[in-house]
Amino acid sequence: MVLDREGSTHPEGGSLPETVLFDMDDTIFDHSLTCRASLVAIRRTWPFLRSVPLDTLWHEYLRLLEVAHVDVMLGRRSAEDARRERFVLLAELCGRKIAGTDAEVISRSYRREYQLRRRAVPGAIPFVRRLSRRATIAIVTNNTVSEQEEKLRFLGLDRTVDFLVTAEEVGAKKPDAEIFQAALSRTGVRATDAVMVGDSWESDVLGARAAGIRSVWFNRFAVHPDPPLEVPEFRSFRSPDRVEALLRSRASMREPGAAARSSR
Ligand SMILES: [Mg+2]
Repeated sequence: MVLDREGSTHPEGGSLPETVLFDMDDTIFDHSLTCRASLVAIRRTWPFLRSVPLDTLWHEYLRLLEVAHVDVMLGRRSAEDARRERFVLLAELCGRKIAGTDAEVISRSYRREYQLRRRAVPGAIPFVRRLSRRATIAIVTNNTVSEQEEKLRFLGLDRTVDFLVTAEEVGAKKPDAEIFQAALSRTGVRATDAVMVGDSWESDVLGARAAGIRSVWFNRFAVHPDPPLEVPEFRSFRSPDRVEALLRSRASMREPGAAARSSR
C-alpha cells in the first residue's frame, strides 16, 4: 500500500494514490461553459446568430473546434485562422454569408468575451490544492504547452501542479496509451500507483485504462455513452470528500453486473 505524502492511510477507502492525473479542459478549466457564455454575449451584438437556438450554435461551435483542434495543436494552422473559419461556418448555419473581414471582427469579439468570462469548473481548484498536499499532481492534456501553462497561471495552479504533460510535447494525444505512459515516466510512478480524473469517456477513462491506470470519471454533463464498464463517477467537485473517497477506492473498474455503479 502506498502512503500519501503525509504518511497517512485512510482505512475507510485505502490510501490516496501516489499520483493523481487530471485532464484540464472541462475537468479543471471550464472550457465548454465559457464558450457558451461567450456565444450568448456576441449574439447580443450580432442578432443573426440568434436565428438558431443557443444550444445548436454552442454544440456546432464545440464540434468545429474539435475538428480544427489537431491542426492547431500541431501548428499546421493558427488558432485565429481556425476561429475565423468557425464563424464563417456558424454564420452559414444561421443563414448568413459573411466576408472574411466580418468573420475577423466577430472572431476577435468572441475571443475578448472568452478571455473575460473564462473560469474554473466549480470546486476544482480547491480540490486540486487539497490533493496536492498529499499526492503528486499532473495534468494530462490534449493541447499545447503555452496554452495550458497560461491557463494554469490564470487558475492560480501553476505552483500547485507538479507536472504538465501535453499532447503537443509528447507527440501523441489521449486516448493513446503513449501520453499516459509519458505521464507515468515523468512522475516516476507505476500505473498501479496512479489514478486519472477526466470528463471524457473516450480520452480519459478508456485511454487511462489502456495504459493500465484506473480512472474516475467526471461525468459532469451526465452523459451516458452506454459504458461497457462500471467506472466510479461523480458530477461535481462540490462534495470533495466523496470525490476523494472515489480516488482512494481500489475498486475502480468492473465488468457490468459485477457491482452496482458507484453512487452519485
Ligand atoms: Mg476534457
